[in-house]
Amino acid sequence: MRISEIYASLQGEGLLAGTPSTFVRTSGCNLRCVWCDTPFTSWEPTGEDIGLADVLAKVDALRQRHVVITGGEPLLFAEVAELCVALRRAGCHVTVETAGTVLPVTSEQVADLMSISPKLASSTPPADTPQRWATRHEASRRRDDVLRGLAAAGRHQFKFVIDSESDLAEACGWLDDLGLDVDRATVFLMPQARTADELARRSTWLAQECRRLGFRLAPRHHITWFGNRRGT
Ligand code: SF4
Repeated sequence: MRISEIYASLQGEGLLAGTPSTFVRTSGCNLRCVWCDTPFTSWEPTGEDIGLADVLAKVDALRQRHVVITGGEPLLFAEVAELCVALRRAGCHVTVETAGTVLPVTSEQVADLMSISPKLASSTPPADTPQRWATRHEASRRRDDVLRGLAAAGRHQFKFVIDSESDLAEACGWLDDLGLDVDRATVFLMPQARTADELARRSTWLAQECRRLGFRLAPRHHITWFGNRRGT
């Protein structure tokens, strides 16, 4: 599987925010979000091909019980499902972070927590983006069948990147369309931000909306703790 980085840090978002964890970041994505905060896994993917045994050894060396499999889109790789199953068998708690457009290629449970971040229309890059990425992104970003499958597989959370009132309306409508009776306490709204200043500016309005609608605010702690830097 193509790996961008493996490192230990604190989980910055969601139900397990603050939890010491090892992060395995795959490189490669089927989407091209215009604001992608890990362009080294999507727009300009870098990394090296590392086999399952070597990834397991690197994770083991970092000695964390919580392991976060992230990307890019980790579920693009068949080997990632094997990695997750092996980690769970070894006693690790596995979180998989996905945009929810691909199902894992195994019938076994891959995650203790499936962290699903569907991409709203505002993530689509401009129409004149090379390699038809606007069309390709738009054709792939919404897969309700996949979202229902991921949610049915076990404990999960939804995370939406919100930048405007239309983003919020789209997220609410999308959740209704899924018909999953989603517990809003497991739905996180994240301000679209790459710096601590942007984060602070955009959190005020979103915090009020979370209060009004019963969703949770995702403060994106890793930006304030570490800045938007790789390996954190
Ligand atoms: S799905 Fe994630 S990794 Fe892929 S382009 Fe969007 S933000 Fe970047």
